[in-house]
Amino acid sequence: MDLVLYNGQIYTMSDEEPQVEAIAIRGEMIVAVGPSDEILKLKHDKTQLIDLDGKTVIPGLNDSHLHLYSMGLYLNLVDLMEVTSIKEVKERVSHYLLDQQVPAKQWVRGRGWNQDYFTDEKRFITKADLDEISTEHPIILYRACGHLLVANSQAIEACGLNENTKPVFGGEFDLETGIFREKAIELIINQIPDPTITEIKETLVTAMQYANQQGLTSLQTDDLDHLPSRDFKKMLQAYHELQEEGKLTCRIYQQSLMPTLERLEAFLDLGYKTGVGDRYFKIGPLKLLSDGSLGARTAALRKPYHDDPSTKGILTYERDDLYRIIEFAHRSDMQVAVHCIGDGAMEQVLGIIEEVLEKYPRDNHRHGIIHCQIMDRDLMKRYNQSDVLAYVQPIFLHYDMHIVEKRVGHELAQTSYAFKSMMEEGISVSIGTDSPIEACDTMPNIHCAITRQDLKGQPEAGWNEAEKLSAYETIYGYTVNGAYASFEENIKGKIIPRYLADLTVLDQNIFTIDQKDILNTSIMMTIVGGKIVYQNH
Ligand SMILES: [Zn+2]
Repeated sequence: MDLVLYNGQIYTMSDEEPQVEAIAIRGEMIVAVGPSDEILKLKHDKTQLIDLDGKTVIPGLNDSHLHLYSMGLYLNLVDLMEVTSIKEVKERVSHYLLDQQVPAKQWVRGRGWNQDYFTDEKRFITKADLDEISTEHPIILYRACGHLLVANSQAIEACGLNENTKPVFGGEFDLETGIFREKAIELIINQIPDPTITEIKETLVTAMQYANQQGLTSLQTDDLDHLPSRDFKKMLQAYHELQEEGKLTCRIYQQSLMPTLERLEAFLDLGYKTGVGDRYFKIGPLKLLSDGSLGARTAALRKPYHDDPSTKGILTYERDDLYRIIEFAHRSDMQVAVHCIGDGAMEQVLGIIEEVLEKYPRDNHRHGIIHCQIMDRDLMKRYNQSDVLAYVQPIFLHYDMHIVEKRVGHELAQTSYAFKSMMEEGISVSIGTDSPIEACDTMPNIHCAITRQDLKGQPEAGWNEAEKLSAYETIYGYTVNGAYASFEENIKGKIIPRYLADLTVLDQNIFTIDQKDILNTSIMMTIVGGKIVYQNH
């Protein structure tokens, strides 16, 4: 035996033996679980022993939707989360320019601002604000949702945009204010030069280390469309090199964003398909985006926005175009996972999946919808009827619970972010964070799922409290259902023999402690394939 952990409160997430004291690991696999005295008999001279001293162990956490590369970039960005005024935005960017001694012409990126948090003026930041910071550096600052950015004059000029620039379908931009929404964002970011493969790898390693500190061992990440050139081969090369060098400290399931049929065909022609890869790196589903975000009112609703009747949001695709891509992916044995926030987007996508399955039935397709926010009971039933998976992000509640009623009205808000109802409906609900939209921090995410409170503990009873998940349901969604979403439920997500030794050790028992203490829980150790990848000293 290579490693034995004993004297713990180990939650296996298996019905047969829900709680054990000790785990024996050989190589990357779990060999045995049981009482400490029995498992300790399996040790030999070279076995590494870890006395858990009563700590809690759960299967390694699996973030079912995030953007690892962007998260790595984010860790090096001007952080504008929780900034409470336009003045403070200007100060933070100015400090960054000074601190980092950024040379003229070098791109400066920031992310996380949200006008709803501003106390001076509740408005979008504009080009004029950024020009006050610098006219020598191209500056772009993403709003917290990631679906809107503001650019300064230098950035707009560097991208060659002017009054002759053509409108973009699925997006909007205004060169006067410097605001770019949805697909129009590409007018800017596609012009920024690509990093080198070495730089991409460094960014990914930074992000994986952070994820390991959060107790994450598996990541379902969408990165292939995230370089300025959108060259997915470069991103895949970076991952493959890390894989060969043994530097992947999280298991990766790549949610492969291929927004057009042509790109998808090129991808498949190279031999990539759902499931290709090994236990450290696998190609996941085709990822598509069908609408925007609630904050920016670009999520596609069936009815006009409650607080802006002039809009129903933005559907990214014409139905026929989206249909063709999904049908082709389905017939090519790809799993499909589509970003849908509004009920309008969900209705479109569920309708397409139903039609495709009707024409070309396929068991075990595991197609899914990412976000699943604004919905009603009928839509929920349709998920179940077509076996569509739900990928949800409880941490979104922190911000969204304060705006959802304003955006969609009281009635629809009642059945939105309805994680409990979705599970009860029989939908496989997996848990993620969409990092860097929100941090990939696991305890805040778990807190929001269990308490339905924001991170300040409000409201006391929880928002739509009937939708609270139990601690067990939350961890189940974060482990077992996460593994199901990548077709790996027979190898990970539980602590039982013949499963991968991917484990997360916590300093307190999140199943039994007072709910208000969940946020104070620390990750003590993270183990991936029997190797300790993070230890909290
Ligand atoms: Zn996302």
